[in-house]
Amino acid sequence: MGTHDELRFETRAVHAGQEADPENGALMTPVYLNSTYLQDAPAVPRQGYEYSRTSNPTRTALEQNLAALEGGEWGLCFASGLAATNALCDRLVPGDHVVAGNDLYGGTYRLFVRVFSRYGIDFTFVDASDVDAVAAAMTDRTRYVYLETPTNPLLRICDVRACADVARAAGALTVVDNTFATPFLQRPLELGADLVLHSLTKYLGGHSDVVAGALVGNDDALREDLAFYQNAVGGQLGPLDSFLVLRGTKTLALRMERHCANARRIAEYLAGHPQVEHVFYPGLPEHAGHDVAARQMDDFGGMISFELQGGVEAGKAFSSATRIFALAESLGGVESLVEVPPLMTHASVPKEEREKAGLRDGLVRLSVGVEHVDDLIADIDRAMDAARARATG
Ligand SMILES: *Cc1c(COP(=O)(O)O)cnc(C)c1O
Repeated sequence: MGTHDELRFETRAVHAGQEADPENGALMTPVYLNSTYLQDAPAVPRQGYEYSRTSNPTRTALEQNLAALEGGEWGLCFASGLAATNALCDRLVPGDHVVAGNDLYGGTYRLFVRVFSRYGIDFTFVDASDVDAVAAAMTDRTRYVYLETPTNPLLRICDVRACADVARAAGALTVVDNTFATPFLQRPLELGADLVLHSLTKYLGGHSDVVAGALVGNDDALREDLAFYQNAVGGQLGPLDSFLVLRGTKTLALRMERHCANARRIAEYLAGHPQVEHVFYPGLPEHAGHDVAARQMDDFGGMISFELQGGVEAGKAFSSATRIFALAESLGGVESLVEVPPLMTHASVPKEEREKAGLRDGLVRLSVGVEHVDDLIADIDRAMDAARARATG
């Protein structure tokens, strides 16, 4: 990576971690479908590789590429974003405490509350866009401050630098799930975070054809600890999936520029639409987190949520009537998607918790793709007619 440090993001995205094969000149990183490696003597692996659960050259290439994009020293790739979060939790012992945002990816909430709280780990969920609420929740057992920004699905913005200061003062690590922003828009390590977590399934993969996750950081001891759990538990990313994500990160910059431009146009369109009660998009000046987002992000991303007049019925009608926006969970692919979080991605969060976090039943979430924006707006227009017919009919 060393030589890549001075290069710009777009160039690192294409080249970091990837060198032509010294044997045959192949430019793309091969998919190393092997489980084991030659040793020169017992316990003396020829090139440092022993067994592919522990490490694999295709995965190494992706790990170096992600580290270069996030401005970190190292990366570790996992079978999914949740496997990466799991590895973080594997380091905790009974009595340890985590302060987490209250507007998290639904599966993260489920992992914390349904799995790790059974092992005696305590979680406190707070509105992490309020730094004082984060500070008030810290205890002397707090090991992580776990943030998403922008949050999912309400696109709230947490001030990473301020939260990292609070965490550091209390001896806790700051973890930022950077899935929504991607390193093209936001680099949490530069803002003082200790670890970045990704669901590579989303923008970094970018084509909705792979499930993968990663952790990126700077501290070597932390890497050793996390790599121990990755190897001991076995949640590593396979070589073919590593290859697919590497193919995705090459075009991350290009895709993000279009995602952002399209989303801005659509957010403005929705904000002026008579059937829309509220638009959640950090790029809108009236968004509560706009100033912090403008400071810590380079643009505002491709995700938009909005509340429709007519509540959940209107949301159902809207999301069933689009033709380009496919009704599906997930996000971050080149194709546009629509979903109804309380019924789909966030159904695992109890209604009471959802409402406490401000997630109302009529919410609709868009993952704005890279299609032509005029086609997307025409599609939204058509679905608005269906939502209105449902609301009045
Ligand atoms: C999808 C997602 C996850 C979980 O990642 P998987 O790859 O599905 O396991 C975590 N955080 C965010 C913000 C996500 O969107």
